[in-house]
Amino acid sequence: MARYTDAVCKLCRREGQKLFLKGERCYTGKCAITRRAYAPGQHGQGRHKTSEYGLQLRAKQMTRRYYGVLEGQFRDYYEMATKKPGKTGDELLIILESRLDNIVYRLGWASSRAEARQLVVHGHFTVNGRKVDIPSYLVKVGDVIALKDKSRQSDKFKAVIEANASRPVAKWLDLNRETIEGKVVAMPTREEIDLDVDETLIVELYSK
Ligand code: SF4
Repeated sequence: MARYTDAVCKLCRREGQKLFLKGERCYTGKCAITRRAYAPGQHGQGRHKTSEYGLQLRAKQMTRRYYGVLEGQFRDYYEMATKKPGKTGDELLIILESRLDNIVYRLGWASSRAEARQLVVHGHFTVNGRKVDIPSYLVKVGDVIALKDKSRQSDKFKAVIEANASRPVAKWLDLNRETIEGKVVAMPTREEIDLDVDETLIVELYSK
């Protein structure tokens, strides 16, 4: 599948906030947005008046990039969200949070969602005891996500898990550090999703 491969830090600078796309570097003083908190390019430091459409577009792009989802799939998630009983914007974020690659990242088993995606594709994880190698797989309440037995012995995994051990685990996930298993105890509420975006702008954009 096509993926954005240009310098990912530019994406954070464009959106004006950390999107945590580069793993451990994002948590250090080397983070590009810490050092250059303005948009990239020749006019990055200039003043810009943003139109309503521009704000809506930025909100959508930022959210899409945060979760590493391509346009078509993001639109599909929006359509899925419109059929749910809750507020469409909230439901959209909850669907994005339910992706298996996001869960792996949230459990601290990868340094970034991009790394999590790659690890999922390589078949390192199970859901309820069965191998799942689809990053977009949507988990449900009660699902148990685990590292495969063979992968548990890998020094690489041990290092990644140790490096991310201090990162707080989302409250709606229950992580057993001994067995390296995570359980989805609830779906997150909007307040529990730490993405600083006005999701109603995305709904406005797609409702036109
Ligand atoms: Fe974004 Fe991480 Fe780069 Fe910082 S280091 S700008 S958070 S990708």
